[in-house]
Amino acid sequence: MQKTLKKTLSIILAVLMIAATIPFAFAAEDYTYDEATDTYTVYTFAGLETALTAGGNIILGADIIRDDTTVLTAVPENITAVLDLNGNTITTAPGFNYEIINVNGNLTIKDSGINGTIDSTASSVSPCLRVEGGSLTIDAGNFICDTNVALAVDVFSGNAVINGGAFTNFNVLDEGKAVINGGEFQSEIWTSGSLIINGGTFYGKEYTFGGTFDIYGGEFHENPSKYVAEGCDITENDNGTWTVTCNHSFTNYVETTAPTCTETGIATAKCDICSIATDEKEIPSTDHKDEDCDYKCDYDCGYEFEKPEEAFKPSLNAQTNADGSQIRFVACVDSLNYKEVGFVITNANNKEQTTTKISKTVYNSIVAGGKKLTAADITGDEDMKYILTYTVKNLPENAAFEVISFVVNLDGTITYGETETYTVADMLA
Ligand SMILES: [Zn+2]
Ligand SMILES: [Zn+2]
Repeated sequence: MQKTLKKTLSIILAVLMIAATIPFAFAAEDYTYDEATDTYTVYTFAGLETALTAGGNIILGADIIRDDTTVLTAVPENITAVLDLNGNTITTAPGFNYEIINVNGNLTIKDSGINGTIDSTASSVSPCLRVEGGSLTIDAGNFICDTNVALAVDVFSGNAVINGGAFTNFNVLDEGKAVINGGEFQSEIWTSGSLIINGGTFYGKEYTFGGTFDIYGGEFHENPSKYVAEGCDITENDNGTWTVTCNHSFTNYVETTAPTCTETGIATAKCDICSIATDEKEIPSTDHKDEDCDYKCDYDCGYEFEKPEEAFKPSLNAQTNADGSQIRFVACVDSLNYKEVGFVITNANNKEQTTTKISKTVYNSIVAGGKKLTAADITGDEDMKYILTYTVKNLPENAAFEVISFVVNLDGTITYGETETYTVADMLA
């Protein structure tokens, strides 16, 4: 909806600009609109009214006067507008009884110039700004009214956040909520709704009419002690003013920037008392990680994890003597870099009979079938260097074994070879 409206406006504007080339009297334009930055530059109150209704960025291009006293000017519900006073002034014509701007949607006011002002004193009873169900943020500007009968900012319902600016006075009604983080307040401030002050300078009195009012910080010319929040201190200064300060306390740090293997992260906490002050802590950088197991660091830092070498497995053979009364198991290994080497031997006819034999001695060669054989001869693998054996004697005719050779690596892990089954009858056949 908003886009279509703006498009229509820019078409109207284009038509206006063509019209300007025709030599007729040309009225000063109410506003210009830059689609690329979604910015209205307004020159009249009618232009401001159009821009506030559409939303987006609004810059005052001149001092303007509210001269139409019949219509209420509002930021509508669901519309967000940012108004830059740009050092200019909005005033109102006499006899105008509405607030200059009513906030039903979201309005932020700032001032990129000097002394940008909204001033309602010409029409004594008008507030400068009235929040009615919307949300108002003020970062800068002067907000002036006749304090005998009117309000600079009237938070009737909805929310206001004041970060800066100069105000004659300020109030919050029953349904309203306001947080003042900074700014100067010349005259009284009062609330019957909810008001929190975290900072600012206050020259007038503070009142409450049954609302909640908590002060966590600020400079006060009237003693504000009855509204000072728990956990905060008030001190009377030599010049007769009072300063309220929060004894900030930070406990709940939440990770706001995750650490990586090369960068530290950040954890941020809000003050437990005032919830406006924040503190940051560094989170140490992490180790490289490889959750996807591709041996490359998941943070793309370029680090590569060492790929594990394929574990060495010992070989296994067996021989019987001529009558089958003995069997000799023969395993070969590649080096002496093991804690232990040996066999696990299970009686295949009674699997509960199983035993682990650690070899105390290894050989460079053994004699088998009248021939001297090295580990390389036995296995056909030049890398095999040492031989370990285990012999079982006095075998019955049906002797059969399930055998595994193994090495215990220097890190304590065990690597088993393949399980082999040897039946003496089959070996003799
Ligand atoms: Zn605090
Ligand atoms: Zn890494």
